[in-house]
Parts: sequence; structure tokens; C-alpha cells
Amino acid sequence: MSIDVLLKEFQEVSEHPYKVLSQYKAEGKKVIGVLPYYAPEELVIAAGMVPMGIWGSNKKTIALAKEYCATFYCTIAQLALEMLLDGTMDQLDGIITPTICDTLRPMSQNIRVAMGDKLPCIFLAHPQYRRPAFGMQFTVDQYTNVKKELEKIAGAEITDEALRGAIKTMNASRAARREFVKLAGQHPEAVSAVLRSAVLRSAWFMEKAEHTAKLQQLNAELAALPASNWKGKKVLTSGIICDNPKLLQIFDDNGIAIAADDVAQESRLIRVDAAETGDPMMALAQMYADQDYDVLLFDEKSSENRRADYVVKQVKESGAQGLILFMQQFCDPEEMEYPYLKKALDAAGIPHVKLGVDQQMRDFGQASTAIQAFADVL
Ligand code: SF4
Repeated sequence: MSIDVLLKEFQEVSEHPYKVLSQYKAEGKKVIGVLPYYAPEELVIAAGMVPMGIWGSNKKTIALAKEYCATFYCTIAQLALEMLLDGTMDQLDGIITPTICDTLRPMSQNIRVAMGDKLPCIFLAHPQYRRPAFGMQFTVDQYTNVKKELEKIAGAEITDEALRGAIKTMNASRAARREFVKLAGQHPEAVSAVLRSAVLRSAWFMEKAEHTAKLQQLNAELAALPASNWKGKKVLTSGIICDNPKLLQIFDDNGIAIAADDVAQESRLIRVDAAETGDPMMALAQMYADQDYDVLLFDEKSSENRRADYVVKQVKESGAQGLILFMQQFCDPEEMEYPYLKKALDAAGIPHVKLGVDQQMRDFGQASTAIQAFADVL
């Protein structure tokens, strides 16, 4: 299959997740909604169900969710609830609600109250200290609770063997996505910013094995291309999410390629894998402990500014000339980290621009002007 055909298939999924959900339900599959961040999708797969990411929506407006949410909740959280309330997610069989930031903690309870008996809501609290033995045990205990709740929905036990199989499936998905990020950065003439996002976003909606098989085909086609002769600019993107096609079209219109990303919905959550042998629950806890360089994760050595240094290294290694930061409105963790990131970027002489965004943005005039001006600076 050609690169263009494969990209179009990913784009179709990315733009119509509701159709994908309906298709899985028509096939008799159970589907579990997975809110950000770090929910162990492996447990859902091991239970024979389909994990489906819920990262808000670029097409909806907050209306029903207002009844449950303070106005200073980010739009990702509010629009996730909106889709649960307005019937978009009626076909889900359950939902996992991680609680890693100050918005998601109360949000998990808002969702539970709003859904009542309509939808099983599985609460997931990650430990702050994820690396010491007591933190690892906390993660295992929490995941064990998620496992029990998923077993109730699936009506079957999750065996260690099934969980090891699911870990293999997820490791393969993460590896294919990492490879794609690298290849898309090397061949921006073949993968536009809009389509790059569609490929990575569709991974949250499609069954992982199906997505991986298609992505491996695409990666093979991209790897066979001759070396790129890209004349435009290259940047690293950073932030929680950057998946609005209208916003990304501005990149394409201005000849700006995405060399790599530090975006939660794209690369931040797929940097590490789980061991495929041994105790699978401990392997998942270890994978969470191994996660790093994320504003949402506690860093015992935060005074060393390790995360910002990591992002600077990413910019340099990817061949990007600058960084574009998509700052979600009302996202405390990202806002609090920004001065430290700025300090490290400035010290390294890396130009950057910070764009305030939210999922209810419909007019991208200001963003377009800022991105065009930034392209000129580069
Ligand atoms: S965008 Fe920020 S505030 Fe909203 S859920 Fe994500 S981390 Fe929390």
C-alpha cells in the first residue's frame, strides 16, 4: 500500500473515532475509555477488551459539563466529561480515570457522580514516589484494583499469560510509534504535520495490534525513501496535546516540519516499555517507575532541572531549529514548569514560542501570525 493511502486510512480513524467505537461494538467487542495519563492499557487488552483514549475533543463545546466543573478546569477534562454526558460515549463499557494532576483528581469524582450507574468508573491513583519499593507496591496495588474491576466488566479473569501477551502488544505499538516519529522527522516532505498527528492520534482509538501492523507497513515505506532534501524549517513541539488539524495546517502552510515532539499525547507516554517476562504486574509498575522527564511526574532531583535539559537535548538531537510550546489554558503543571524550560532553552540559545491553546479554539488567526513570525526568526 502506498504511503498516501496508509496516511489517509490513519486520518480517517483520527477524524472519526466515534465510527471506530461503533464498529468495535458492532463486532461484539467491549470497549473501555481511557483518560490521560499512564493508565495501563495492557490490563484492558489482557481482559480481551479494547482500550480507547479520551483526550477531549476539538469539535465540541462545553455545555452539559459546566454543571459539574469549575470554570478553571482545562478543556481536555471538561470536554471528556461533555462527551460522556451528551451520549457520544454511550457505547463504552467502562472508563478508567487516572488522577495524576489537580484537575483530574476532582474530575474522577465528577465523572463518577455524573455517570451514576450508567457506566463503571475505575479510579486509578498513581503514587508520587514511583521508584522506591513502597511506591512500586502502591502501583501494583492500584493496578490490581483496576484489574479486578476490568475482570468484572469482561466477565473473565485476566491471567498472567494474557497480561504478558498484552505487554508484548503494547511494547510493539510503542516501538512502532517511536520509529514513526523518527521517520516522520526525517521525511517531512512525505508526512505533513497534519498527517503526522493523525497517525499518532489514531493509535488511541484503534485496536493496538491492528494499528501497529498498519504502522509497520508505513514505517517500511518511509524507511525506503531516498534521503530528504527538506528546505523548510524544523521544530520540536512540546505540551500536553497538539492534535487540531487546523492548527497544524499552519505548520504545513509555512513550511515548518515537526522533527520530534515532547507532547504527552504523542511521545511522552511511549518512551519506555515493560518487561515481557517475569511478574507482569510488577513489570507494569516498573514501567511506570521508569517514566521520566514529564511535568506530571515527581522528580526527586527537580532542582537539577533535568526535564528541561532533556528537552534541550531532544531539540539538538532531532535537528530542530527551535521549539513550539502548546500551553493548554488552565494546565497548572505545564504553566508551573514553563519558567524552568524557558531558562534552559535560553541558556542553550534555542529560540522558542509559547502558544496558549484550548480545545474550544476555533479562530487560529493569532496562532498563525505567531507561528509565521517564529518561522521568520528561525
Ligand atoms: S491538560 Fe493539564 S490540567 Fe488538564 S488534565 Fe492534562 S495535566 Fe491536567
